[in-house]
Amino acid sequence: MSAQVSENDRCQALNSLSDEELINFYDDVTSNTLQKLSKCRSVLKAKLDEYIDLKIDKLRRSYLQIAERKLTQCSDRKSATFGPEVDYFVDPEKSEILYGDFLPKCGLAFTFDDGPHKTLTRKLLTSLDNENLLVNFFVVGDRVRASPDILKEQYAQGHLIGNHTQSHEDLRKLSFKNATAEIENGFNIITKTIGDYIPFFFFFYGAHTKDLQAYLNHFNRFEFYWNIDTLDWKIKDPEELYIRALEKIERTQHGIILMHDIQPQTIATAPFLFEALRMAGYTPYLIRPLKKGPTQNVP
Ligand SMILES: [Zn+2]
Repeated sequence: MSAQVSENDRCQALNSLSDEELINFYDDVTSNTLQKLSKCRSVLKAKLDEYIDLKIDKLRRSYLQIAERKLTQCSDRKSATFGPEVDYFVDPEKSEILYGDFLPKCGLAFTFDDGPHKTLTRKLLTSLDNENLLVNFFVVGDRVRASPDILKEQYAQGHLIGNHTQSHEDLRKLSFKNATAEIENGFNIITKTIGDYIPFFFFFYGAHTKDLQAYLNHFNRFEFYWNIDTLDWKIKDPEELYIRALEKIERTQHGIILMHDIQPQTIATAPFLFEALRMAGYTPYLIRPLKKGPTQNVP
């Protein structure tokens, strides 16, 4: 009975929110993290999808003019799609933090963290496929357990699957033992799901410690970081996100871009961003580990 009441209360509270407020709960509504929403989940999801579709229509009408205002031509590159990307190989024996500043001018590597998401990741895969583009994903072990088939699709499409911890914890707050368990469990579920191992790791919020960096280094893993933070988890409006992302890219002109495939505004914005960057002559990069033979130095 109490669960019944609390579900009604929860549904009522969410139903009373404006669209701008409700979008903050997109992941809760669509990923079953708020368990007791069976009575209103489909209504809330329809409301959010309609809101996002309106935002996408607005961006579709404005994105070319915005790109003209915000981006200068970076190079003469001409391509029918944003991809194909250029492979950039890093040597796991010289593992270090990858900030993205090593990429050449007009070179951008997209990273998408925090997924896989039940519905949004597939939409992103379609956009990436349309652009003939491969990216670096950093997935969360618990989400892989919830959606293994989606990770398999990401891998089958050719994207590189890195590790973003088992449960998206701030590893600075855990004991060294528990923190390394978060790292290893993340790698293990990825390997178990796709049958491949990529020695790439992304800390939650980039929040690393010297000890954990030394640990990754010891086992020849790379720590990914970013030099272009789109703040896509925070900027909920697709047009605003698009504008902020273009401004940052224009200022920096090369590097690793941080985005999140559990954010509906990110998925809405991505196709427009890819097209604007293609027209401005940017080249996408995929960061790959150099294969060093069959033995990997892993614990
Ligand atoms: Zn994250």
